[in-house]
Amino acid sequence: MPTIKLANGETIEVECLSCAITGGIIEPEGGTIIETDYFHAHLDVAYPIEGLIIRTSKRHFACLDELTDYEMKDYMNLLQKLRRAQREILGIKHVYYFYNEDTTHHFHTWMVPRYDWMYQFGRSIESVRPVLLHAREKMNTPENKKIVMQAVASLTQAVNHD
Ligand SMILES: [Zn+2]
Repeated sequence: MPTIKLANGETIEVECLSCAITGGIIEPEGGTIIETDYFHAHLDVAYPIEGLIIRTSKRHFACLDELTDYEMKDYMNLLQKLRRAQREILGIKHVYYFYNEDTTHHFHTWMVPRYDWMYQFGRSIESVRPVLLHAREKMNTPENKKIVMQAVASLTQAVNHD
């Protein structure tokens, strides 16, 4: 069974991290932003970037062609709702989306806001990994974490009140 190191330093063994999060076994440190019938959205506090969101399906599967019709509709509705909130609440102009089907967890999509400081790592997809590592290693300050958690609170309020 894979061992997962949590952001708070604890280590636990889980079959699938995504199942553990959507099943409530692990509460993401950033808190849950929104839950729908088929999806769950949260922040991974290990990557303290304001407005970053990870959306995970509640069902265990890996590939996009495995989505049911209901899940597809829910996926797009939720995606657009979160994206709108990122723009309206946080002024985020552009977002990078990605997921990889060969994940060791299950189907989840990252929404990584694009900020000016990220261009030092390149303009496109090749910059994503260095950006995330930079955030994890250099931006884990109390001040930045406070900003990130405030963004989570604002997003949570925005997407749960309409
Ligand atoms: Zn799973």
